[in-house]
Amino acid sequence: MERNLKRQLPQGKFESVSLVRSRTMAAIKGKHPKTTEVALRMLFVRSGITGWRLHARHLPGKPDFYFPRSKVAIFVDGCFWHGCPRCGHIPKTRRPFWRMKIARNQQRDRVNARILKGRGIAVMRIWEHSLAGRETIARVLQKISGVVC
Ligand SMILES: [Zn+2]
Repeated sequence: MERNLKRQLPQGKFESVSLVRSRTMAAIKGKHPKTTEVALRMLFVRSGITGWRLHARHLPGKPDFYFPRSKVAIFVDGCFWHGCPRCGHIPKTRRPFWRMKIARNQQRDRVNARILKGRGIAVMRIWEHSLAGRETIARVLQKISGVVC
């Protein structure tokens, strides 16, 4: 069994696989970037941005935040799942599968944005990575407070 497994592995090493898998698993967590969403929620509270609702389930794509008064939908996109051009990477294993999956997510994002815009709702997408540094956070908040009331 072990020999069989080793033959199937690219370098015949278990460590390399677990490394790839742990990286993949870490990336998977980003699909519903709970922590980034919570971070943004805390930032809203701290900067006095009000009037938002969490998870607008009635809207296409279920925006993470929705400001009904200003009709603005905000999506917090996980860099991996939404194919961030800056930090999104395609795992080395099952490359076509991941590529297709991410492309499909991006396609869905575009369709949902189009529907929302058609309903007069402005769409803002925030990359997970932009909530990592103090400078980019400030920029994100400034951008949001400029469009919501
Ligand atoms: Zn990113």
